[in-house]
Amino acid sequence: MNLILLGPPGAGKGTQGHRLSERYNIPEISTGDILRSAVHKGTPLGREAKNYMDRGALVPDEVMIGIVRERLAQDDTERGFILDGFPRTVAQAEALSRLSEEQQRPIEHVISIEVPQEELLQRLAGRRQLEGRQDDTDEAIRYRLEVYERETAPLIDYYRRQGLLRCIVGVGTIDEIFQRVAVVL
Ligand code: AMP
Repeated sequence: MNLILLGPPGAGKGTQGHRLSERYNIPEISTGDILRSAVHKGTPLGREAKNYMDRGALVPDEVMIGIVRERLAQDDTERGFILDGFPRTVAQAEALSRLSEEQQRPIEHVISIEVPQEELLQRLAGRRQLEGRQDDTDEAIRYRLEVYERETAPLIDYYRRQGLLRCIVGVGTIDEIFQRVAVVL
């Protein structure tokens, strides 16, 4: 099963991706986690990505496409994968389509997790206190939501046109939301 989790920052993609990964025993690939780990280790990728991430800006498409291509080449993705945080631009989505065609591993479902803006702002502010992420400052949060609307939200239509889009209301308990996800798969 090859899935994409789509949604604004704070929608719960990571939480649901984790649950799905356990249920279906396939890896959750979070590009944000991959980048944060590179930043933490101080690798060249991490040093390049940090400036973008701290501002809430997107890391360049070529870099991200390279990361995902490499990650999908690993054996643990053979039975399927869950992408969380990728693609985030139309260029990334097109590259992923080409990649999955090449590898004959079509994307089967794109789950769009929908949460009202006000709730997102509350959740992200709460997460800042819990996790202390550099990009959960007020300014970076506002900017990330703006970037989502401009660069990532167009993917909703992109995948709807391909007949892959499944929309989920992302408000409620983690279990309730997981049930809704399970129903559309
Ligand atoms: P996330 O944990 O998914 O919210 O990602 C945190 C940050 O990592 C984002 O604000 C971006 O700076 C960067 N990032 C993660 N995934 C991508 C992507 N697919 N394209 C560009 N930047 C990304």
